[in-house]
Amino acid sequence: MSDLYCVFGNPIAHSRSPAIHSAFAKATGQDLIYEARLAAVDGFPLAVSEFVAAGGKGANVTVPFKEEAFRLATRLSERAARAGAVNTLAFDGAEIFGDNTDGAGLLRDITNNLGFPLLGKRILLLGAGGASRGVIAPLLAEKPASLFIANRSADKATALAQAFADMAPLDAGGFAETAGKSFDLVINATSASLSGDSLPLLPGIFAPGGLAYDMMYGKGETPFLLLAREQGAARCADGLGMLVEQAAEAFFVWRGVRPSTGVVLADLRAKLTA
Ligand code: NDP
Repeated sequence: MSDLYCVFGNPIAHSRSPAIHSAFAKATGQDLIYEARLAAVDGFPLAVSEFVAAGGKGANVTVPFKEEAFRLATRLSERAARAGAVNTLAFDGAEIFGDNTDGAGLLRDITNNLGFPLLGKRILLLGAGGASRGVIAPLLAEKPASLFIANRSADKATALAQAFADMAPLDAGGFAETAGKSFDLVINATSASLSGDSLPLLPGIFAPGGLAYDMMYGKGETPFLLLAREQGAARCADGLGMLVEQAAEAFFVWRGVRPSTGVVLADLRAKLTA
């Protein structure tokens, strides 16, 4: 019988994870089934226990359950413990192992797929929610020259900077506090686009050759990337590569096999723009 995996979220109908993991399984010859499962907003633990009872081996976790998955795990990877959020679960008897592959996915997309090494770079991270928290340690591990966290609610950015201060000195504040500074990489980890809001990016924020990276993706250029281009970003990338790379890392956690991502990413991109 095929091993069973799924992604939990609410909503979940539009998730691309089943298509991504099915393509990985086919390419690597792994015998597994991967499905999307809608969990009730107040029913995540129940949904997980029902899935485990049905023989589920592992699961991805998306909005709004990543922090609940963190609390549900009986054992955490170091990167999940640091992130305070879990996007990958593996079930083994009574053990629920929690991992977080979002940061590794972002790093692999930026450094491998986009060929943009972070050593010595000045990075601006916009947003102080779960996605932002999950990528700070992996970004710092690349030894950038600096990392500034800017958030609409400045106090959340400051708290996040303090939580990672043992790794490197971080700057943090509101968007206005980026005045007069420029960055080699600006990452949008806010959900502003979901409400159709544009971010108050200040002129001069992009250094020459600067990369604008939006964790969001969609048909055409995202509102953040359109704005970044206007503000002088030399390169723009959306988060579709991060989505595929975090999935590949989760696949590796479960199966011990690292799938190639290039063809799957190109297929998804073609479907998105069709
Ligand atoms: P959270 O809800 O945890 O955090 C949202 C963040 O966005 C907060 O910092 C919030 O600021 C900020 N924000 C929301 N609305 C606005 C606005 N109108 N103007 C300015 N800032 C705003 O979300 P996540 O961190 O989980 O996710 C953030 C984004 O990253 C989402 O769009 C998600 O889809 C994407 N993502 C993509 C992934 C991928 O694989 N490509 C993986 C993970 C996430 P405040 O604190 O002031 O409320």
